[in-house]
Amino acid sequence: MKIKTGGNGVVEPWDVTYLQNLAEQSEQLKQADEGGWKGNVGEALERLQEWTHDFLGMKLEESQWETGEGWVGGASKYSLKESDGSLVGVIYFDLGSRQDKYNHSAHFTIQGGCEEWSSDYTSVTGRSVPRVCVVMNLEGTLTVGSLETLFHEYGHALHSVMSKTRYQHLSGTRGPVDFVEVVSHVVEKYAGRGEGRWNGIERYNQCMYAEFDRRIFGSETEGIGGIEVFRGLNEEFGVPYMEGTHWFTSFGHLSSYGGVYYSYLWAQEVAREIHEDLKGEGREGRAEKFRRLVEPGGSVEPMKIVENVLGREWGGVESAGE
Ligand SMILES: [Zn+2]
Repeated sequence: MKIKTGGNGVVEPWDVTYLQNLAEQSEQLKQADEGGWKGNVGEALERLQEWTHDFLGMKLEESQWETGEGWVGGASKYSLKESDGSLVGVIYFDLGSRQDKYNHSAHFTIQGGCEEWSSDYTSVTGRSVPRVCVVMNLEGTLTVGSLETLFHEYGHALHSVMSKTRYQHLSGTRGPVDFVEVVSHVVEKYAGRGEGRWNGIERYNQCMYAEFDRRIFGSETEGIGGIEVFRGLNEEFGVPYMEGTHWFTSFGHLSSYGGVYYSYLWAQEVAREIHEDLKGEGREGRAEKFRRLVEPGGSVEPMKIVENVLGREWGGVESAGE
């Protein structure tokens, strides 16, 4: 692979991600030219609708805004429905880019689902309708990489709206962080991107970041500065460290995932195993297992959920590569 960068020909640590992105983009554009997926936002949403029907036997239908609902032109509202037409939840998609908009891809819970009770709290009268929003910054012609991110965020959205917990604070993604990324990683596998060519590099980096996160929040590094911890870790992992830099200060996940960044890797491995398992099922079996995965939200211990989906004990990461 040759890419003209205009640099001095030496690949420095900070060049790696940049070069990967360049190569990834050119590869995806090449694949799109050769008939791989490309499309606009509307076509990406159609892919979600088709997948929802084929995979879950459910309907994702565009819906009308109600008076006072909505926050910006261009956002759209969809209803997730059972095959009999009953409403499961509402998903808003705010996918375009605009000035001063939140600039990451994310899923936000507006209202979690829960049981609704009579005014004297003696009986359950129904369920509240969960509402979530998927936010991205998409423009022009999209490649399968963006489609994969949309599927990922849609996975979070499904986790939230299909959850059937008693309390809203245990619904969907409001569970242990270890489990939050599992469903989204299962769903993103259906975007059709295939295995990335950087898996090895990415995994290696993720292991290093996870270990840095663990050490920074652990007692063994008490009184030791971040730079020292990071420098030592780079040496252990054989990754060049540039003196005078402190990359980790811009690593936002250190605060949002504080001490549990490893869960991202963990979730990928669990998702891989679940995805493999689902391949052996027909539509009904797949949909049934997917419900087992999302319905308990944070109300059941994560490993129990995984084992309930797989129908067997979790073998763990050590056996996952066999
Ligand atoms: Zn995610």
